[in-house]
Amino acid sequence: MVTMKSSNTINKGLSQRQTTILNPISCSGIGVHTNKEVSLNIKPAPADSGIIFHRTDLGSAALISAEVKNVVDTRLCTVLSKPGYGGQLRVATVEHLMAALFGCKIDNALIEIDGPEVPIMDGSAAPFVYLLERAGKKELDALRRAIKVIKEIKVENEERFVKISPADNFSISCEVNFDHSLIGRQLIAYSENNNFKDELSRARTFCMEADILKMRSAGLALGGSLNNAVVFSEDNVLNEGGLRFPDEPVRHKALDLVGDLALAGYPIIGRVEAICPGHAMNFDIVSALLSESDSWEVVYIPFEEAGIDFPIAAAGGGA
Ligand SMILES: [Zn+2]
Repeated sequence: MVTMKSSNTINKGLSQRQTTILNPISCSGIGVHTNKEVSLNIKPAPADSGIIFHRTDLGSAALISAEVKNVVDTRLCTVLSKPGYGGQLRVATVEHLMAALFGCKIDNALIEIDGPEVPIMDGSAAPFVYLLERAGKKELDALRRAIKVIKEIKVENEERFVKISPADNFSISCEVNFDHSLIGRQLIAYSENNNFKDELSRARTFCMEADILKMRSAGLALGGSLNNAVVFSEDNVLNEGGLRFPDEPVRHKALDLVGDLALAGYPIIGRVEAICPGHAMNFDIVSALLSESDSWEVVYIPFEEAGIDFPIAAAGGGA
């Protein structure tokens, strides 16, 4: 968790409170890269815990907080790890679950997992949103904080970039450009006026049929199938039922970006612009932002001026 280095003027009655889930909830499924069956329990956690993963198969102290400082790999998915346990203390593919927690405005949760990778479910964040809505939400007796961007930060690699600049709200504009007849150039804008559940959470991860063999020979995507990824052939979609949105790829890239930005530890208040982002670049922008201490400050979040549509739902409600 980043340290609080400044605080804006607050009115406790008008500032948002931190949240956790009301009731524990569970699911199980396979990891898309490991093809291992894992069980996941999401449990309530106290204020200021943040999101913490517990590898229950490795013992009671095998904890990793979902923070950018614990990211160790960004090839195809975002992997958290900490030293010890013979290198086994890691959790891969955290981004869709992190995006769902962010979209449902859950600040604190303990995620128990008995294997090395979060289940891929259907390749989107929608199953996790469903679970979190079923779990319900609870306010805690502590104020909610955000990282307010006060100076522009940009990371780039040739024509690809991610930039975060100061703004009163959280917003994303994301563009992809694939040389494929069904994708091409796609652009999506997402802000507090949009609904995470409807507009981003259902977008599935995707790949090209031609890349599957390459990923498998690198030991990745061993559990990938048409049940958990959109697969594009040269001129078609192989999944029965086709796409969930005509621009599902860019929606999924925005979903990944939201999940990776959540590793900043607090919601970000700022305008995010991304051209052809990926997990590595998402990691780089969060690292760059947090490492430049004059580019941000921690603020409490008022109800009305919040970065994301922040009203606290009653228990059982969600985003
Ligand atoms: Zn993804």
